[in-house]
Amino acid sequence: MELSSLNIKFLPGVGEKKAATLLEELDIQSFEDMLYHIPYRYIDRTKIYKIADLNKKLPYIQLKAKITNLQSVGVGSSSRMTATAYDETGSVELVWFKGFKFLASQIEAEKEYLIFGQPSEFNRKINIVHPEIDNFEKASKLLVGFQSIYSTTEKMKKAFLNSKSIGKIQDAIFKTIKHKIPETLPAWFLQKHKLLFLHDSLYNVHFPESQNTLEKAIYRLKFEELFYIQLNILKLKYKRKKYFKGNVFTTVGEYFNTFYNQYLPFELTNAQKRVIKELRQDCGSGKQMNRLLQGDVGSGKTLVAVMGMLIALDNYFQTCLMAPTEILAKQHYETISEMLKEMGITVALLTGSTRKKERERIHQGLLDGSIQILIGTHALLENVVSFQNIGLAIIDEQHRFGVAQRAKLWQKNTTPPHVFVMTATPIPRTLAMTLYGDLDVSVIDELPPGRKPITTQHVFEKKRIEVFHFIEKELEKGRQAYVVFPLISESEKFDFRDLEAGFEELNNYFLPKGYKVGMVHGKMKPAEKEHEMHRFVTAETKILVSTTVIEVGVNVPNASVMLIESAERFGLSQLHQLRGRVGRGADQSYCILMTSYKISNDSRQRIETMVATNDGFEIAEADLKLRGPGDLEGTQQSGLACSLKIANLGKDLLILNEVSRIANEILAQDPDLEEEEHQLFASQIKRLFKTRITWRYIS
Ligand code: ADP
Ligand code: MG
Repeated sequence: MELSSLNIKFLPGVGEKKAATLLEELDIQSFEDMLYHIPYRYIDRTKIYKIADLNKKLPYIQLKAKITNLQSVGVGSSSRMTATAYDETGSVELVWFKGFKFLASQIEAEKEYLIFGQPSEFNRKINIVHPEIDNFEKASKLLVGFQSIYSTTEKMKKAFLNSKSIGKIQDAIFKTIKHKIPETLPAWFLQKHKLLFLHDSLYNVHFPESQNTLEKAIYRLKFEELFYIQLNILKLKYKRKKYFKGNVFTTVGEYFNTFYNQYLPFELTNAQKRVIKELRQDCGSGKQMNRLLQGDVGSGKTLVAVMGMLIALDNYFQTCLMAPTEILAKQHYETISEMLKEMGITVALLTGSTRKKERERIHQGLLDGSIQILIGTHALLENVVSFQNIGLAIIDEQHRFGVAQRAKLWQKNTTPPHVFVMTATPIPRTLAMTLYGDLDVSVIDELPPGRKPITTQHVFEKKRIEVFHFIEKELEKGRQAYVVFPLISESEKFDFRDLEAGFEELNNYFLPKGYKVGMVHGKMKPAEKEHEMHRFVTAETKILVSTTVIEVGVNVPNASVMLIESAERFGLSQLHQLRGRVGRGADQSYCILMTSYKISNDSRQRIETMVATNDGFEIAEADLKLRGPGDLEGTQQSGLACSLKIANLGKDLLILNEVSRIANEILAQDPDLEEEEHQLFASQIKRLFKTRITWRYIS
């Protein structure tokens, strides 16, 4: 029976209308979809708490208590009813904001009640808001087993689809299919890893028999989900290593050595040396390299890229460096041309705004091999861009690139070029394993010497003038400053007014003191943007007001202040990226996070994390925990992390490690999953990942 082809609308009690709502709200259509809509919480209805044990961290709890002291307090919108519940261990306040006339008529002194609700804290005292109250003697039928709680939306509730009715639909599914759910893991495997059957697992996550079976059921489902993801992604890696040749870079020759001995602008950090070595080994191995370099902002990835490119040139290959924005491509072009200017290497820049004539010249130069290094934006992916012999493609700040775009790089030579992807968005280990499990990973975990850690401060908007004074002091020392405004979507009129008003205000304050203020934002024409950036890079303007267009890659070491306006509106990784624009020189740098007085708890936690640490990996982990993987940059387009139904990448590292080890073991023995006992694995992978395979191959 194919559970994925049975439509829930035919179940008793569902019908067209509810089915439509479920599809719209939760993307649930088939029996399978529904079965995998698992409860997000369970309430143990056998457990009765003592009042003395209550704290605000507990989920829903039940008490057996008497109720006294019923009274109405407050007037108008703050009117409410309170009561005191007590047992032999203590007392706790109950609060209702509505429906209390009815309650008042129900509650009798000296009678025992079953009180069901969630403890919270108010004025440093524990209370329970809107508890359900039942006569204890009559409530005994409620006191069995676990109650599953399903997530629902407002629209669902209006269509009479609350948590309870979802439970009923699950029950109807089990009855309809007569408890037959086809197994998706081989029997030997279940036995070996002590896993429950799929059927028992799904049944128990919806209708837990005990805490113990519930835990086993959840474990089995997470295990399976992560196992297939790992098996799938690692299979690609094994396959590539088995079948794919790579261009062999045998020599480290004249270009590399000359640069290293004569033009290296700084002593390399140990981390940079290690990564260059890893890159050399990969490119010399005869297999195609697919390596991801993770290095925090300012860790010196560009220099590593340059050294890699020189090795390619030493082996008579061409090479390219692709950046996500024009500003960044141009900046790379300038930095790299400058570094290599004495070495007789031809470097070209190709972006969307390259003129036709120049473009044609570049196309020709790439074909006849006279251009050795091409730097550009995604313009260099276009089909008309062909190389004589490209050996290495480097992608900077990869999270800005779509997957399909990366795929195009592979077709630029008969033997696909080595691919080196650099990212400044540190990725938590679990995400790296699931998203980039088939890539080898290098890490730069060391900043160039002499950097002082950036000082980060949280300031309320009221103190803007003090902040301006502070910036002024920095400008007096010859430094420069960024002021960033949120403009999440560059078309939002409202934000745009903020940006312009902010610009005005800064101008009014700083211009009379002789400091020019510039502004860049996404609505400007590329040429205008370039011009403004250039004025800031050359220190003609001392302050640059901008939107997040400067988030990625821009390098102005003289800038020492990053003021972020409405910081509560930015995500953690964005804040971290922005902060990375300063602290690039030897001077002490500052990041000021300005917020309004009232901010949400989540925003507060983000700001606190930023103030507490400069470590990108720590921030990425915090981000994963706060937002969940679906929201993390770079994961959306993959469609993977958000499609995880049961496992949680913020929490399930241990299971992930385990399944990854098991998947490696299986593939080492049988990389193409051809053996009899692996047949089910092969068919499951086909079923689960039919649409996703191509891009994983590439990234
Ligand atoms: P990112 O990793 O963010 O791309 P960059 O490559 O832009 O970092 O480097 C940041 C800054 O550090 C640049 O100004 C660069 O010149 C400098 N830098 C890179 N490597 C070193 C080093 N080994 N010693 C000193 N400064 C370095
Ligand atoms: Mg960079």
